[in-house]
Amino acid sequence: MARVLGKSALVTGAASGIGRATAILLAREGASVAVTDVDVERGQAVAEELGASAFFAELDVRDEQRWTAVIAEVGERFGGLDILVNNAGIIGFGPGFGTQDPETCSLRDWRAVHEVNLDGVFLGCQHGIRAMRQRGGSIVNISSRSGIVGIPFAVAYASSKAAIRNHSKSVALYCASKGYPIRCNSVHPAAIMTPMWEPLLGSGPGREERIAAFVKDTPLKRFGTAEEVASAVLFLASDESAYTTGIELSIDGGVLAGSAASPGS
Ligand code: NAD
Repeated sequence: MARVLGKSALVTGAASGIGRATAILLAREGASVAVTDVDVERGQAVAEELGASAFFAELDVRDEQRWTAVIAEVGERFGGLDILVNNAGIIGFGPGFGTQDPETCSLRDWRAVHEVNLDGVFLGCQHGIRAMRQRGGSIVNISSRSGIVGIPFAVAYASSKAAIRNHSKSVALYCASKGYPIRCNSVHPAAIMTPMWEPLLGSGPGREERIAAFVKDTPLKRFGTAEEVASAVLFLASDESAYTTGIELSIDGGVLAGSAASPGS
């Protein structure tokens, strides 16, 4: 069954993790896919894996000129854009970043995280609307459980993800009010095993214990997979969700259903 047959898609941050799994699933379900990322080598490898129905384009989501150029390239190659997945994001841990709590997080780090996570989604939505306003389409923004609850030691990340949650609803309402056939929804993963977790999990003997600790309050008691998030994105990208706009879809092993909260993204 090809659930997005004949549609064209652009996925940001598609070289790794959730973006990669999403690009692969959209292609498998019949879409032509623009695989975009700042990581040229790994992005190109994903596009090559997908074959003739895909191409790679370098896109730093903070770069407005690149948005213009890449969307134009999608138009030239695929005849237009139907699906935009604003997935690229950083958590703000690891090399180059300092502490991320509200007392000591630097303004530089705060801005750097918002620039990728929030400005990137803002630009994506703006360019996506312009590309889709006549032909219609679906915008899926990857927020997080952290956009719904507070995260004391990743405040820039949590703030940026909360803003994505709200901006998605504004975009949905704006498009509806203008009569543009564009839907916009947000997806809220939690504890999905991707490279984003590596700085937190580390290696060595304590790794398994740390994994267990992170999911001990998750009702399903495990990390989710990138493919499980990609399935949700596919639903929102396809016409199966034609009456769905402005929603937030949690893929979180049940964690938001109760009051227990474990740290992490
Ligand atoms: P990941 O680190 O595996 O992949 C992120 C990708 O984004 C990488 O390929 C990276 O090169 C790319 N990227 C980083 N900065 C970029 C930029 N400026 N422009 C374009 N691309 C850029 O992470 P992931 O876990 O697959 O995360 C994907 C999305 O899912 C992120 O928005 C993340 O916040 C969100 N998310 C992940 C989890 C989780 O548990 N993994 C939970 C909630 C939300």
